Amino acid sequence: MKKIGLYPGSFDPITNGHMDIVERALKIFDEVIVAVVKNTAKKTLFSQDERKQLVDEIYKDNENVKCISLDAKLTVTLANEINASAIIRGLRAMSDFEYEFQIASINRSQNKEIESVFFAAHDKLTFVSSSMVKEIALYKGKLSKFVHVAVESALKKKINSFDK
Ligand code: ADP
Repeated sequence: MKKIGLYPGSFDPITNGHMDIVERALKIFDEVIVAVVKNTAKKTLFSQDERKQLVDEIYKDNENVKCISLDAKLTVTLANEINASAIIRGLRAMSDFEYEFQIASINRSQNKEIESVFFAAHDKLTFVSSSMVKEIALYKGKLSKFVHVAVESALKKKINSFDK
């Protein structure tokens, strides 16, 4: 049976840090499903559709990576529906640990069959976050080392639309 991992997150926008996790998760899972979460707690720069479109664009030639929107549903419910055996998350620093540990415990309380799997960030990418790339984009800095070209142009377009 195919091993499927569900990678949920805001992906506002997807960064090289997220992409590194997807790539490494593919060493363990046959398929990685990226779930773009609506996220009511955070105000996002990109709409849920825009965030999903960027992930779709990046992985259009990789049949082992798919993207779906996650809305009004628990992550474990979605994981169950798509036959995912695990939820994938990334850890950048100790500061991520407490939050991630809490989420993993909550997810286990809802469905004990679905494991949480954590990948340690690559040492070159520990400091890369969606908020950091948004900040760089806002002040017209260099983005190419942190995001895919599709994300770079989407960020520039979005920021330019604010200048008008
Ligand atoms: P959320 O808002 O759900 O935390 P994010 O899009 O910010 O969503 O992140 C999704 C997941 O990817 C989280 O587990 C986060 O720790 C991880 N992640 C983000 N950036 C990196 C990175 N540079 N290296 C490794 N993991 C990362």
